[in-house]
Amino acid sequence: MAELRGLDLSTHLKMIVNEFKANKSIYSYPEKKFYTGFPGYDLSVDFHHKKAATPLGPASGPHTQLAQNIVLSYLHGARIIELKTIQILDELDIPRPCIDARNVGYNVEWSQELRLEESYQEYVVAWMLIKFLEEMELLGVPKGDPFYDMVFDVSAGYDLKGIQSPRVDKWLRDIRDAREKIAELQAGLPEEFERFKNLEIDPHIGTTLTLSTFHGCPRDEIESIVQHLMREHGFHVIVKMNPTLLGYDFVRKTLNDDLGYENVQLDPEAFKHDLQFDEAVAMMRRLLAFGAQHGCKLGAKFTNTLVVKNTEKVFTDEVQYLSGPPLHVLSIHSMHRFRQAMGEDFHISFSAGIAKHNFADTVSCNMKPVTVCTDLLKTGGYSRLFDYLARLQSAMEEKKCTTLKDFVGSEAEAVHRTEAIVKNLISNPVYHFDKNKKAPRKVGSHLELFDCLSCDKCLTVCPNAANFSFAVEPQEIELFDYRFEEGRFKPKPNGMLKIGKATQIANLADFCNECGDCDTYCPEDGGPFVMKPRFFFSRESYNPFKKNNGFYFINENEMICQLAEQEYRLFYNEKSGEYTIHDKDAVYIFNEDFQLVSAKPDESVPDCTQINTADYYRARLIFNGIKTSRQRFGANVLF
Ligand code: SF4
Ligand code: SF4
Repeated sequence: MAELRGLDLSTHLKMIVNEFKANKSIYSYPEKKFYTGFPGYDLSVDFHHKKAATPLGPASGPHTQLAQNIVLSYLHGARIIELKTIQILDELDIPRPCIDARNVGYNVEWSQELRLEESYQEYVVAWMLIKFLEEMELLGVPKGDPFYDMVFDVSAGYDLKGIQSPRVDKWLRDIRDAREKIAELQAGLPEEFERFKNLEIDPHIGTTLTLSTFHGCPRDEIESIVQHLMREHGFHVIVKMNPTLLGYDFVRKTLNDDLGYENVQLDPEAFKHDLQFDEAVAMMRRLLAFGAQHGCKLGAKFTNTLVVKNTEKVFTDEVQYLSGPPLHVLSIHSMHRFRQAMGEDFHISFSAGIAKHNFADTVSCNMKPVTVCTDLLKTGGYSRLFDYLARLQSAMEEKKCTTLKDFVGSEAEAVHRTEAIVKNLISNPVYHFDKNKKAPRKVGSHLELFDCLSCDKCLTVCPNAANFSFAVEPQEIELFDYRFEEGRFKPKPNGMLKIGKATQIANLADFCNECGDCDTYCPEDGGPFVMKPRFFFSRESYNPFKKNNGFYFINENEMICQLAEQEYRLFYNEKSGEYTIHDKDAVYIFNEDFQLVSAKPDESVPDCTQINTADYYRARLIFNGIKTSRQRFGANVLF
């Protein structure tokens, strides 16, 4: 598997500016679903001591790992960004695939691929890019408008020893005050972005933190971590709760009997080891008092995923983690019970099975942020966020409220409303197995290097924007191999290469963690990230991972290409229009029409030597397609 890599700030900035200018899109997403606010409506919330222009966020996970993921969430209206969890074990070998979002949504236990320092870089780059978007007023909203208010919520795990380790300790201090990193990145900006070099940027990137602990983490460990984070770092802390708080009997009956997920098998042991409801309430009461002494706020997040037995066999581990619609029912139930015990003013954040149909209702229960993951793994990806906010605005309009504060009302009203929502949840068919059992349609064909159904699903379902499209002229090319006979290479017809579609798909291997989601949603078999041309950003990332499919641009006229275990170098001469192919020790020159004009070394070629050119033709098509698409996202990263 290629190693996940981020891009530097300047490349991101150039890509954003140029792509938006040329196509009115950013990272392939068209501007039509960028959130630009709803005139006359105030969707803002207070989050601890900060303001956020909307209560919406991507949940900590695949949508908050790389800088472009965070920027895309922001562009579509997210304003409380739960950063992907960091931890001391940052060189884990994570099984692939790691996401199964065919319907309800499952994932594997671990998922942080980046080293601590790399995560830090990604988060600072994303923070700065968002500030630059505001400064440029790219969305048409004047800078300084509350529309831009945004919070990055740090997520850290998983045990006290790791969180106290020098590397994590430094990481947490750095994210609280990133002025050195910001200055370093500003100093490295090229001249064309001179105006950003001295831009004042708030260095306090993360002052709130959501704690993620192991499933089965003991109560005293959780309590000690929260105390440490408040006392040593001054974080406002949200503790992520497990749905196991509801107890085995309730969860089993709800999932298997009431909602009809008979295929989901629980592990009763997991319920015994996880935090119990009463000890969680007692702990949070003690921590509230502790936080008050240290000037820190406390809240709870509902919920973590639910550990279940692996019956689907998509993953290799014995257990997997359930999310999506069934988790929504469990999480709302556990949240409601918990808040009743803690008091109606207790801060709650929420993430479980959020989609456009339940977002406004969930917000109306006075939870902030309300974050989403599984739904963004479906077709449309980040652009789905816009519809959540549009539905929320419609719900506010219906209730004749222009502010979210009025829409939610008092804490008591929100709890009362939650009561009514809870009563109807289990009977609501949208959460039942029958409504959530279908997998995305497969048509039975297998992907190849060129051509496919051109549905573009693989572009948006990828959390990392790792798939992209490029233009190629549809054509039928007669292929010629060459054979050395009678002192020269003679052409020999070798069939046709047909390109049927004007849009082709490729993959940015350095952005791809092989999570498998584009394979799930592609109507054809094989996986776009496996079958389509895979581009690497550098020789360093290309060399170890090229396998049978790898491309790398040395410069805009020179490309390294590996197909079928054979590596070539293609050079294009702009003046003559000729293509030179370096293949092992031989050098072949083709004219503009791709006819062989010379071969070297020619003096020592034995009779009957054969040049098989089919892959040269393919490489040339990809090379030209990428070059002519240089204003588009994907191709614009490669030169
Ligand atoms: S390209 Fe496909 S496999 Fe790779 S990260 Fe994106 S969705 Fe996952
Ligand atoms: S690779 Fe698959 S998902 Fe992507 S455009 Fe082609 S058919 Fe659609």
